[in-house]
Amino acid sequence: MRASSGRPANGSPSRCTAVLVRGHGFTCAAQVAEKCMHHPKIDVRFDTVLEAVGSSPDGESGDDGSVGDGCLRWARLRDRATGETIEYRARRGMTFGVFVFAGFIPNTTLVRDFVDLDDPGYIRVDAKQRTNVPGVYAAGDVCAKDLRQVVTAVADGAVAALDMQYLASDMQGKTCQIPPAPVPRY
Ligand SMILES: Cc1cc2nc3c(=O)[nH]c(=O)nc-3n(C[C@H](O)[C@H](O)[C@H](O)COP(=O)(O)OP(=O)(O)OC[C@H]3O[C@@H](n4cnc5c(N)ncnc54)[C@H](O)[C@@H]3O)c2cc1C
Repeated sequence: MRASSGRPANGSPSRCTAVLVRGHGFTCAAQVAEKCMHHPKIDVRFDTVLEAVGSSPDGESGDDGSVGDGCLRWARLRDRATGETIEYRARRGMTFGVFVFAGFIPNTTLVRDFVDLDDPGYIRVDAKQRTNVPGVYAAGDVCAKDLRQVVTAVADGAVAALDMQYLASDMQGKTCQIPPAPVPRY
């Protein structure tokens, strides 16, 4: 949960961030967790769920008369360990944002019965981005790997494209077939 001045996104930076964790602790790298726990502008609460958010608990206008503008000014949190509920209200004229992270589900249904997937459903590839099916490649977040970022997705694509080129050229040599060049559609 990020409290802001209510100005546009290019306005002042957030004053503080509350990280609400449903479980007992972080599951990320200890070094990252440590940094987050000791950051003066980050308030970490474990065993906590966000139950409701809105302009106000009853939908009525806020202190400054603002309602229906889509801005968040009120939240209800629940401590899962004690059952206690906590109400958070943004200061007058202030709003906050909520960013939800609830895990990942790889969108690989399309190839589920076709190529090898790991347990969570990511596509298994080798160092050249080849799946277990000859001629079928995968690149980016759908692959089983450690780091899912733009830079690794783009790199996967480049590696796959290069190997596809070798494969196509090899097949051409074997079959003597040259597929027709695609015709531009503009
Ligand atoms: C909240 C968030 C913040 C992030 N921040 C960063 C960051 O700061 N820096 C960074 O490097 N990375 C960041 N990432 C990770 C980064 O976005 C991904 O690693 C990257 O976008 C992966 O690229 P991709 O092409 O594999 O997948 P995507 O970018 O997800 O692209 C897949 C595309 O395929 C389309 N698609 C899906 N199914 C089909 C289908 N059946 N037919 C046709 N099209 C289909 C989708 O619509 C989508 O356009 C962030 C991710 C999230 C969720």
